[in-house]
Amino acid sequence: MGIKDINIQYVLQKRPDGVPESDTWLRKELPIPEIKNGDILVKNHYISLDPAMRGWINENKSYIEPVAIGDVMRAGTIGKVATSKHDRFKVGDCVTGWGGIQNYSITKGENWHLVNEALAPMPMFLGALGMTGMTAYFGLLEVGKPKSGDIVLVSGAAGAVGSMVGQIAKIKGCEVIGIAGSQQKCNDLINNFGFDKAINYKSDSFIQDFKKALPNGIDIFFDNVGGEILDLALTKIRRNARIVICGAISQYNATTRKGPNNYMALLVNRATMQGMIVFDYAEQYPKAAEEIYTWIQMGKIKSSDTIVEGIDNFYEAFLRLFSGEKQGKLLLKVI
Ligand code: NAP
Repeated sequence: MGIKDINIQYVLQKRPDGVPESDTWLRKELPIPEIKNGDILVKNHYISLDPAMRGWINENKSYIEPVAIGDVMRAGTIGKVATSKHDRFKVGDCVTGWGGIQNYSITKGENWHLVNEALAPMPMFLGALGMTGMTAYFGLLEVGKPKSGDIVLVSGAAGAVGSMVGQIAKIKGCEVIGIAGSQQKCNDLINNFGFDKAINYKSDSFIQDFKKALPNGIDIFFDNVGGEILDLALTKIRRNARIVICGAISQYNATTRKGPNNYMALLVNRATMQGMIVFDYAEQYPKAAEEIYTWIQMGKIKSSDTIVEGIDNFYEAFLRLFSGEKQGKLLLKVI
């Protein structure tokens, strides 16, 4: 390897309070060590940027161990095997796994998967065919349990997960309404992703628009946002409604969190509100990916992404998850 082959990595330096500042992570440059027997060295090509990363740097234990101070920031990646001393992987194989925010990852291959590059562009294996797609698929189908004719409301609808949820709900014969943060994103939901209606939560007329868009209430609320939008959605649920708590991005940087005031609506309407964690469905990922792939081939599912070039733009790109300055799946391109 030449002089260029230095590993740039971003390690967690401190735990943030509120919106992470740039010194939350420390940039390091390290030589690439020789791999040992049983290891592979992966050159990462794309890194997935996910709102969940904000939760992983909090101190408290969640559904997954927090990233330790001094550790490389956790992130899903896709790349190619550069060197291998492993039986299952050979040089040039395309692989996906938890490579982290760095150019190169060394791994024993546990929880790393071979990817058939001929099937789809690399970013799609982190998006529609990766964790994003799995979250939408299992969150909606296993927890939301849509039936034809159901009215489905999706928050964070123009995001990576939300745009897929809406499209899967349409495949299942539902009426789909999305909430997003700009008129352009709302137009895109209707014109590109086939939503029936879309509401801009940043508009002054949001509350009126919300009521107008939902004259008959909601059977399923797929919530990516939490906070005030969750509270508002509770005022519109119908009998036996299902609320899927997928995420609560409006609360991730909050120092004081807002819980739902209107939870009595669950009682009145015999409704359920259930959290979901995509990792619980890991054994079923291959089957789900196959079905999503078929829908993509049939033109029933579209995906979009925003690719930020250069690992050193990690911090600026990460903030876009919260400002909304992106379309669909957010990725860092390493090379
Ligand atoms: P994403 O939606 O692609 O990106 C986040 C989007 O959220 C932004 O583009 C922004 O769009 C919106 N947003 C940011 N701050 C907001 C606020 N204060 N209020 C309302 N909207 C806000 O991210 P994603 O990957 O699809 O993830 C969506 C949600 O699913 C997140 O909450 C994430 O944590 C969750 N998730 C859960 C699991 C699980 O296993 N439970 C797995 C993956 C993801 P706007 O322009 O519309 O504001």
